[in-house]
Order: sequence, then structure tokens, then C-alpha cells
Amino acid sequence: MIIIMNPEANEEDIISLSGLLQEKGFKVSKLKEGKNTIIHLTTKENKPITFDFKALPGVEKCIPLAKQERLLDKKVDEKTLKVRVGKEVIGGNKIVMMAGPCAVESESQIMQIARSIKEIGATFLRGGAYKPRTSPYSFQGLELEGLKLLRQAADEYNLKVVSEVTSEKYLDNCLKYCDMLQIGARNMQNFELLKAVGKTNTAVLLKRSPGAKIEEWLGAAEYIIAEGNRNIVLCERGINTFENATRYTLDISAVPIVKSKTSLPIIVDPSHASGNSALIHSLSLASLAAGADGLLIEAHNDPKFAISDARQQLTPKEYEKLFLEAKNVSKSIGRKI
Ligand code: PEP
Ligand code: MN
Repeated sequence: MIIIMNPEANEEDIISLSGLLQEKGFKVSKLKEGKNTIIHLTTKENKPITFDFKALPGVEKCIPLAKQERLLDKKVDEKTLKVRVGKEVIGGNKIVMMAGPCAVESESQIMQIARSIKEIGATFLRGGAYKPRTSPYSFQGLELEGLKLLRQAADEYNLKVVSEVTSEKYLDNCLKYCDMLQIGARNMQNFELLKAVGKTNTAVLLKRSPGAKIEEWLGAAEYIIAEGNRNIVLCERGINTFENATRYTLDISAVPIVKSKTSLPIIVDPSHASGNSALIHSLSLASLAAGADGLLIEAHNDPKFAISDARQQLTPKEYEKLFLEAKNVSKSIGRKI
């Protein structure tokens, strides 16, 4: 059940209604959508909700949700939701360009690449501080120090920071230094982590697990929304198939399928999908043509010496070339960068 409060409902109405609902044993989460507050109710045992809430102060309407219906399901004719990160908007007409190294390696490395991507035109700096590596013996990231360096570089060049939070225990650190929290492919179904980021208001970049069907990925997004955080951007980053010419197979169809099922914005990460810098251009342009709202690209000033994912990171020169071509594609589909 969803209760939509009318725009005049004040904080007191909302608090007293939430309290009443909790007393009645409902699980309550609140979302702000435009001027309206939306209260999402579930019963612990998933029994149908029969109580009539319409007469209560501040309530505009109540919409029952069918058992399988999700908050993220696209309503008829609903446009892509805009996720705002400061002044940056993801899901509008403008394509968002996020770039940066696989991992933060040192102060000079992150400062150099931040400067390059800013000059080229990117608005978000990416970089792993907590790295989820296949082997426990591989570089695990600079952790808190990495987050501080990312923030320093982003502030110097007026960029937003997106970085992965690999565990609830790092959430406070990530909230302090990042503008957007990335949930990595390997953590897509870490439900406790999803619930924890759902309790914040910070924008979340939810990557698809390489083993997840689109429905499972959307189910993961629903975990975040159900806790009250609707600021979610999905990220397609390749799935496992029998093909081994690329690291994963970029599932371009996910872009229009996700757009048809939900109004959440979706961006594409061709770097982790292909694992090969030579393929990033074509996959990026194809993703934009398919309707992606942005690109997450790994870039490094000296990829040969990168500590992780050396084969897939673009040099600033390569990134600049891609950026210009991406601009042309965006223009041809009526969007801009
Ligand atoms: C990353 O973006 O740093 C990363 C590890 O990607 P993924 O979770 O998609 O493998
Ligand atoms: Mn990487």
C-alpha cells in the first residue's frame, strides 16, 4: 500500500501517521516526491492491508499495491526520474560522464587524472578506495586514505565523487567523502548493504551483478527504495556468458528493457564489461544510442602502470577522443553532454 500525503501535510501529520502505522505493526518507509510525501507500507506477514487511512489528516490518497508490484515499476507515461547530485542531474536530457581510475593509487595519480577528465568535460570522478578483488592477495585499495584523496582531487577540480562502498562498516566513511555511493557488481545482492544505503538520502549507483537477470537487479534496487531512498541510478557493466573474447558481455538490451520497466536512470560501464581499452569507444557509443543516461569509464594517466585493471583504462587522450564522439552521438539523438 502506498499513502500519498497532500502537499499541505506538515511534518507533524507525517510523524503522527507514521507512528500510528508502526503501532499497528506496519513496516513504514517514506519517500519525498516533488511536493508530496509518499509513505510505503508493508505488513510483516505480507497480509492484505484492510485498514482505511483516507480519513486521517494530511492523507491525499491510498493506492494498494498488488503483491508483485514494486515501487520502482514504471507508471504509465512516466518519464525517467532525475537523480540529483548537487547541481548534477542524472536522468535528464544531459548525458552524465563519469571517469577516473580503477583504484586511487596515490595523491599525484588521482590529482593528475582528475585534472585531465575535468579539462575534457567529465563531471564525476570515480575511483576505488575499497576494492573488491577476486584474489585476497591483490591490492585492496587505500581505503579511508583513498577516499580523502578522491575528495581532495574532486574539490580541487570541482567534480563529484562516486566510489564503491563494499561493506556497511565503511558506510560512514563513504558518506563523509563521496557524493554518490557505488554498490559494486559483487555486492548487488548484499541485502543488508542495500538496506543500509536505502536508509540514507545519498544517490546510489547500483551495478548489475554479472550473474543477475534484469529482474533480480531491479529487485535489488527495490530493496533500496523500500527503505526510502529513491535516488538510484542503475549501471549495466556486463554479464557472464559463454563468450570469452571479452571479460564479460555488455548487455546493451538491458538499457531499453530497464527503461521500459522502470523510470530509474541507467548508465553503462563499458570498461568492466569489455576489459579491453580498444573496445570502449564502440561500446560507449552503442550504449548512448540505446538510450543510456551516462557512461562510467575507467581512465588513468599511465594505464600500463595501473595497479588494477591496466588493460581497460583509457589514457586522457583516448578519453578525449571518446568524449568528442559521444557528444556527436548525443546530439544526433537529441541529447547533449
Ligand atoms: C568498479 O567499478 O570499480 C568495479 C569493481 O566494477 P564492478 O563492480 O562492476 O566489477
Ligand atoms: Mn576496475
